[in-house]
Amino acid sequence: MSAIDFHTHQLSASTVILNREGFEGDEASIEYFSIGLHPWALSDNWREKWEKLKKLSENPNCLAIGEAGFDRIKGADLELQQPAFESQCQLAQKLNIPLILHCVRGHDLLLAYLKKTKNPPQIIWHGWNLKPHLAEELLDFPVSFSFGKQLLLPESNAAKWLTRCPGKRIFLETDDSNLAIAEIYKSASLILQLPCEQLAQLTKENWNRISSRKLP
Ligand SMILES: [Zn+2]
Repeated sequence: MSAIDFHTHQLSASTVILNREGFEGDEASIEYFSIGLHPWALSDNWREKWEKLKKLSENPNCLAIGEAGFDRIKGADLELQQPAFESQCQLAQKLNIPLILHCVRGHDLLLAYLKKTKNPPQIIWHGWNLKPHLAEELLDFPVSFSFGKQLLLPESNAAKWLTRCPGKRIFLETDDSNLAIAEIYKSASLILQLPCEQLAQLTKENWNRISSRKLP
């Protein structure tokens, strides 16, 4: 079974979409990656990195833009976070690839963006662990949910939303944990009462439905 890890900070033997930590380095050594301007990493001169980001995003192995998004606890001022997020959304939309969303206390900001924007890109909210009613508010928009280590806790919001989340909008990830992706699939499989193989198939099909850069 090839269970894909849709967002991780660690290279591993299985298929992963690695979150690149920087703009330098050897692209050839990375199979699939995402590249973005994280709200923690933004500074006034973020536009200087923009050309580099655009260039990297042309690599066919760049499967997503991100992490990008909002964080009210940590990182740059919202006056910087908002234009950086919107520029990255436009880029993802143009390339027809998803944007991996980092969102901490920013659900209202995302919703406001989605309501005012005619053609938002596909957005994958990574590490979803908020109450199910907040997820439901996003279902009118092209938003999917990536579930990680919180699934190991049966009472978590992540576990609760997974049971109700439309199947077409589910992804699984390890993020910065050191769990194996198989552990996450196993937890999701128990919660959904679906075999791991079927889940692996589902998440891959979900990706290939929403992205022009397909997984084999
Ligand atoms: Zn991450």
